[in-house]
Order: sequence, then C-alpha cells, then structure tokens
Amino acid sequence: MKLCAVVIPLLMILPVQQDEYTQKRKDMVREQIEKRGIKNEAVLTAMESVPRHEFVPEGQVSRAYRDGPLPIGHGQTISQPYVVGYMTAYLEPKPTDKVLEIGTGSGYQAAVLAEITDEVFTIEIVEALSESAKEILKKQGYTNVHVYHGDGFHGIPEHAPYDKIIVTAAPGEIPQPLIDQLKEGGKMIIPVGETSFSQQLKLVTKKDGQISIEELLPVRFVPFTRD
Ligand code: SAH
Repeated sequence: MKLCAVVIPLLMILPVQQDEYTQKRKDMVREQIEKRGIKNEAVLTAMESVPRHEFVPEGQVSRAYRDGPLPIGHGQTISQPYVVGYMTAYLEPKPTDKVLEIGTGSGYQAAVLAEITDEVFTIEIVEALSESAKEILKKQGYTNVHVYHGDGFHGIPEHAPYDKIIVTAAPGEIPQPLIDQLKEGGKMIIPVGETSFSQQLKLVTKKDGQISIEELLPVRFVPFTRD
C-alpha cells in the first residue's frame, strides 16, 4: 500500500514536466526558426526532438528555449536556437552523411545533427566541456556521436573525409586541414573573422577538387582558440 502511495503521485508529475518542455520546444521551432524562413523539415523535426534544456547548466534551464545564446561555463556559450537551425539547414544534412563538428561546447548542435545523420564526430578544446558533453549525449542515448578532446584546427584526420563540416567558433582564416578533410561534393559552414566584430558566416563547397566560398551573413561567435 505504501509503495502505491509513492508511485502514483510521481507518475502524475512526470508527464506534466515533459509537456511543459515539449510545448516550449514547439513554440521555439515555430516562432524562432520556421517563421524566420528555415523550411528544412529534417532540421525542424530534429530541433523539436532534442531536449535543449538538458544541454544547459542547471541555472539556465528556465532560459533554455529563449531566443538567444546562453553561458555554458568556461567563458563559452551554447548558440542561439536560430543560429543552430540556420547553420544546420545550410549544410543540407542527409541520413547517410558523416559529419565533423569543431567546438562541441554543450553537445546540443551535435545532437541536432545526430538526429538527422548517420555519424557525428565532434571535437572540443576545453576538456571539462568535452567530458560533460560526452556524458549528456550518452545519457540522452546518442550512440552515433563521438566526442573528442583537442584542438579542432587539425580536424579528426583518422575519420576523414567528411560529407559535412560545421565550425562553431570563429578562426581568423579557414584551417587548411578542414578543407583537406572535406569530401568531394561536401559542404562546410564556418564563421571567419579576426575580431568578434568582423566575422562572416561562410559556406564552403568542394567540387572537382576546387573550393568555392559563399558569404552568408555577419555573425558573432566565440573565438577559435589554439592549444
Ligand atoms: N556547438 C556548441 C557551441 C559551443 S561554442 C553547442 O552546441 O553548444 C564554441 C566552442 O568551440 C566552445 O566550447 C570552445 O571551447 C570551442 N573551441 C574553440 N576553439 C576550438 C578549437 N580550436 N578546437 C575545438 N574546439 C574549440
């Protein structure tokens, strides 16, 4: 009898909590992503599925679905939902893609990609962040994300080439190893700029061994650091 008295109230509370975040996520996708012109169904569905509130520090949970970046510790941030949607949509991710991400941070962007693609390799220079992202991704059941600790300037050569590459910190120039690790026909999205006031988001495509670069929009990302 005592056991029943404990179990029933718990069952009553859990679905309510889930609904609250599910609704917040739906609103986030509709208002912040879809209404601003992102139509890629796979991206919208992925962002409706990934529990963003699980990827932010405890003190930020109530702000997880807000229209902006949030601090994740170590001077780093989880990107604004719109930026995640925009960058992911430009990569045109496919189920068969192998993806490389530079700048794991919270692990949220990697989870969004992992909802759509076959395999995601992600590398983070701050060890504590790579460890916590690894743990969260495991807890959320993402078996197709492989988290590395190190300087992403060098990419992850042992798993190259990649169909898609996403860089979420801004270097002064596009690192040559990343261009080399991009597959023929592949796409890379990367913010580039010497200072946080002069960054441009760029889309790099490789065709017949040649790269072409399209400038998309001015952005402000955390700097790309080196070991
Ligand atoms: N994609 C992340 C955003 C994190 S912010 C998310 O979804 O939360 C960018 C991250 O890039 C930071 O965590 C920063 O530590 C990391 N970073 C900066 N320079 C790097 C480098 N050379 N190699 C790997 N990671 C780097």
